Amino acid sequence: MKLSSREQIENLSKFKSDSFLTTSFYLKTDKSSMTKKEIALSSKNLLSSGRSQLEQMEMSKEKKESISRDLKRINLFCSKRLSSQNLSGLAIFSCSGQDFWELYNLPTSPQNRIIFDQNPYVRPLSAILDQHKRIFALTFDRREAKWYDIFMGEISLLENLVEDVPSKVREGGWEGYESKRIERHVATHLHDYFKKIAQKTFELFKKNHFDWFFLGCREKYCSDFEPLLHPYLKTRLKAWLKAMPSDSAAKVLKESLGLEKKLKKEKEDEIVHKLVSELEKGGLATSGLKRTLRSLNKGEVQTLITTSYFSKPGRICPKCNFLFVDELRCPSCERKTNPVVDVIDEAVEAAMDKNCQVRHVIPPSKLDRFGKIGAFLRYKT
Ligand SMILES: [Zn+2]
Repeated sequence: MKLSSREQIENLSKFKSDSFLTTSFYLKTDKSSMTKKEIALSSKNLLSSGRSQLEQMEMSKEKKESISRDLKRINLFCSKRLSSQNLSGLAIFSCSGQDFWELYNLPTSPQNRIIFDQNPYVRPLSAILDQHKRIFALTFDRREAKWYDIFMGEISLLENLVEDVPSKVREGGWEGYESKRIERHVATHLHDYFKKIAQKTFELFKKNHFDWFFLGCREKYCSDFEPLLHPYLKTRLKAWLKAMPSDSAAKVLKESLGLEKKLKKEKEDEIVHKLVSELEKGGLATSGLKRTLRSLNKGEVQTLITTSYFSKPGRICPKCNFLFVDELRCPSCERKTNPVVDVIDEAVEAAMDKNCQVRHVIPPSKLDRFGKIGAFLRYKT
């Protein structure tokens, strides 16, 4: 199934077996950056690393057998179906001993990994979800109102309301008295209709967990409608749509995605700008991979800011979980460090583990001149 909601992740993380472990398998399947052969090879390598992990694990025969069946089933799936996979990533959760199997298509590439644990390893899924904003879009005119949910590049109509407030005052009446009366009647009707829309908007907003609110209506209605919105919604109102209720959902989606991209870029520029000025005045910030990892290891990081698609191999201490660019021994415990494929991804996970915020900036940005990674710090030692 397609990853699309937090409930999916919550439900998935509820699965737990008392007698068996669950295998979590994440694979990058992005055909724009890898050939089919490369994808097949990386899946094979990942499964074989899983098998060697399994050999070294000490546990009951039943537990081992369950994992071994997971690996066989994942292997079978990958060899048959991987070439028809059209999304950027794949996540499989399997616990054969309990007859549990769930598969997710991912809109963003994960780091390849295989993990055996008490329950499904869902952190990469929530990281992917966090990258996408959930947008609530409303379009209305005097005939109709439509509410949409836009998420991960998809749109769905939540609800629509048809009211048809007459727009013209009909001819007739004595000395225009009648027409004035009708005019007032129309204005009241329109106001009630706007109130109804505003109320429905808040109800729908409360029910779903939206991040941003986009609104599309004729300019002449804005000043009447906006004050009717709940204050909370006003703060979430991030953009105005040109789309009208008569437009297709595809058109609303296209316009919204364009606006989302623009807004995200603005937010990214803003945070990078803030980081750079903090760095320049020698405040609570750091930059560059080595320094950022050091601050992260020390627990100084408040917000980690990294460039999307930036990756570099590095090392990790098996005991302290400290991350390094090239230390062969951990300076803290003297243990030999282990290589990791992508130390930035490990840093993101470590930051999330420590309840730090993580921001991903799409290149090019000013961050490129500061080693593509940096952080705001809680304190500095
Ligand atoms: Zn160590």
